[in-house]
Amino acid sequence: MQREKRVMLGCPPTNINELLEGMGVPPFVPTVEHSLAQCEDCGTDVWIGPNQRAARARAPQATLVVCMACGLIEQAKRGGGAVGHLGGGGGRPRLPG
Ligand SMILES: [Zn+2]
Repeated sequence: MQREKRVMLGCPPTNINELLEGMGVPPFVPTVEHSLAQCEDCGTDVWIGPNQRAARARAPQATLVVCMACGLIEQAKRGGGAVGHLGGGGGRPRLPG
């Protein structure tokens, strides 16, 4: 499938809280349902959520797992477009360490 047609699954990089420090947004806390994946563009470690993982499992050729930074670049290349949210986020927080 053409890259431009693949559904982007934008995932927060594991250092997202460092990147967003001082920007006044609440910290991202991965839940026990999140697992690690790698951005297909830059290889950075990202947290992939259960719904994103399910989407990727259903259609591995039609999805593109990217970190949020690469997702923004890709979105700009595509000239914008809708950004969806797969829901979720209500899981039990993963304990630090
Ligand atoms: Zn990336």
